[in-house]
Amino acid sequence: MRRWNGWGDEAETAHLGEGARAFLARQVGPGSAPRDATLAEVVAAVPVSRLGGHPVGEPAGSGLDLDPESRVRHARGQSFPDLIALRSGRLDAVPDAIVRPSTGADVRAVIDLSRERGARLIPYGGGTSVVGGVSVHPSPDPVISVDLERLAGVSALDERSGLVTCGTGTTGPALAAHLAPFGLTIGHEPQSFELATVGGWVAARGSGLRSFGTGRIEQLYAGGRLEAPAGTLDMPPFPASAAGPDLRQLVLGSEGRLGFLTDVILRTSPLPEVDRLESWALPGWEAAVDAAREIARQRIPLATLRLSPPAETATLLAFAGRGRQIEALRALLRLKRQPRRWALLLTGASGRKRIAKAARDEAAAIIHAHGGTGVPGIARAWSRTRFRSPYLRTTLWTQGYASDTLETATDWAHVPGLLVRLEAAIRNALVPATGERVHVFTHLSHLYPTGSSLYLTFIFRLASDPDATLERWTTIKAAASAVIAAEGATITHHHGVGRDHAPYLAAEKGRLGMAALEGVARTFDPEGLMNPGVLLAADGPLAADGPLAAASPVAAEPDGRR
Ligand SMILES: Cc1cc2nc3c(=O)[nH]c(=O)nc-3n(C[C@H](O)[C@H](O)[C@H](O)COP(=O)(O)OP(=O)(O)OC[C@H]3O[C@@H](n4cnc5c(N)ncnc54)[C@H](O)[C@@H]3O)c2cc1C
Repeated sequence: MRRWNGWGDEAETAHLGEGARAFLARQVGPGSAPRDATLAEVVAAVPVSRLGGHPVGEPAGSGLDLDPESRVRHARGQSFPDLIALRSGRLDAVPDAIVRPSTGADVRAVIDLSRERGARLIPYGGGTSVVGGVSVHPSPDPVISVDLERLAGVSALDERSGLVTCGTGTTGPALAAHLAPFGLTIGHEPQSFELATVGGWVAARGSGLRSFGTGRIEQLYAGGRLEAPAGTLDMPPFPASAAGPDLRQLVLGSEGRLGFLTDVILRTSPLPEVDRLESWALPGWEAAVDAAREIARQRIPLATLRLSPPAETATLLAFAGRGRQIEALRALLRLKRQPRRWALLLTGASGRKRIAKAARDEAAAIIHAHGGTGVPGIARAWSRTRFRSPYLRTTLWTQGYASDTLETATDWAHVPGLLVRLEAAIRNALVPATGERVHVFTHLSHLYPTGSSLYLTFIFRLASDPDATLERWTTIKAAASAVIAAEGATITHHHGVGRDHAPYLAAEKGRLGMAALEGVARTFDPEGLMNPGVLLAADGPLAADGPLAAASPVAAEPDGRR
C-alpha cells in the first residue's frame, strides 16, 4: 500500500544508523521526533465536497469519487511543503473529487464536466512532483484531481522504428516490463521510477540517471496526443522536421497547464549487452571537475556520469554506516596517495560490449591523467541503494530532521562559483532569525559538454511547530532561489516549476517570454480550467511592479535579453 504521507510503499523503511545520527547531531544538532497526525484524524477533518450531487461512483470517465480518504491521498504530492502539510495534518485544502478517466473520450467528458460545474482540473500522474505540481490549495472554485492511472498500458510498438505508444498513466516499471521481452528499453530512470508516469516525465520535463547517454526526456519524447480544453493536438513522431517551431517543445514541461497528455510516443533503444557502473576517487574538487568536464566535452559515449565533491562524499560515507569497510577504503586511498578530501566520480558504461569497453577505457584514461584511481565497492553499494534513498526522508523526519533537495544548471564557467554561493546561502539562511544550522551538500548529477546541473541536498532540524518548520524551509528556498536568479542559472534542471518555482520563472524567461507562455496557455485553455497556480503563477510575477521586475537583471529587460 502506498504511504499516504511520505514516499513509497508503507512496508519499506530506510534505516538511519548510529553513525549517521551522530554525524547529523554534530552538523545541525540533535533532532527531536515530531507528533504526526494519523490518517484517521486527517480523513475525519475533510470538508463536504462542493461537487456533491453529481453521480458518485465510477462509470465512464466522469464518475466522481468523493471518498474522503481518496481526497486526502490526492491532496498533495512530494514537495517539502506537501510533506509538512500531510504529516502535521494541517491540510488547508483537499480536492472536491477524484476522477479516473480510461480513454481520451473520458478525458474530454471530464473537461466538459469541469466547465459545467465551474471546477478546476489538476492532472495527477504518479503524484511524485516535488515542486507542488499536483498540490491542492484553497480555491473559490471546486477542484477535481484527475488521476490518470487508468490511461495506462502500451497501445502500439513499432519495432522497426523503435517507437512505443503508451497511455500517459503508465509507470516506468510497467513500461520496462512490457519492452524487455522485445529486447528494448527507454533508458529513462529518474529516482522516482517506481511511481512516476510517462505523462509526468514529459509534463515535468525530467531527467534520469542515464541522461548522459540516453538524453533527457525531451530526446526520448517523440510525440503523442494532448487533450486541451480548446481541442485536441496530435504530435506525429517525426524523427526530425523543419516545419516551423516544434509543438512538442510546448508540451514538454507544460505541467498540466495546457491540457492532458493522453498518449505518449517514446523512442526506445536496444537493451544493453553490458551495463557497468564504476566509482573513482579524484584528488580534490578541481581535478574532479576538470576530469568530468573533459569526458563530457570529448563526448565519450558513457551512459552515466555523476560527480560528488569531497563534502558530499564524506556525507555519503557517514550515511553508509559500514565502519570497517570505510576504514579499509580510507587505508586503500592513503596507499594510493589520495588526499583526505577526495571527490567521488561515478561512470556508467552501457550498450554494445565493445563500444561500452572503449568508452570506459577512454574515460578511465582521462580520470587517471587527473590523478584519479578506481575505488572498489562504492558504485555497487550506490546502485543498490539508489532507489531506496528517498525512503530516508521519512526516517529523517521521524528523527526530527527535515531534508529536501533543489537543483539548477549553468555553464561550466559558472559551475564552481554558483556551487560555493548556493551552499553558503543555504548554510547561513536560518542563522539570523533562528540560529539554526543547515547541513548542505551538492553533486553534479547531469553533465553536458557545455555545463552541468547542480543537485543540492539540505538538512535542518524540524521546529516544534509545523508552521515554523515551513517558515524555515521557505527561508532556505528563497535564499537559494535568489542566488540562482541573480547568477542567471536556471530555476530548475529537472524537477519542473510547479508552484514552488513559479515566482522565479520570469527571472529567466523575461517579460516577452512569459507573455508568450501565457498566450499559449490562453490559446489551449481559454477559460483557465487547467492546474491554476502551477508553472505560470496566478499572482503574476510578470507584473511591471512585481518583485522580480526589479530583482532580476533578465526580467528588467523589456525584451528579456541578457
Ligand atoms: C523521491 C523522488 C525522486 C525524484 N527523482 C527525480 C529524478 O531523478 N528525475 C526527475 O526528472 N524527477 C525526479 N523527481 C520528480 C518527479 O518524480 C518527476 O517530475 C516525475 O516526472 C513526475 O511524474 P509523475 O507521474 O509523478 O507526475 P505528477 O507528479 O503526477 O505530475 C507532475 C506535473 O505534471 C502534470 N501532469 C502529470 N501527468 C500529466 C499528463 N498526463 N498530462 C498533463 N499534465 C500532467 C501534473 O499536473 C503536475 O503539474 C523525483 C521525485 C521524488 C519524490
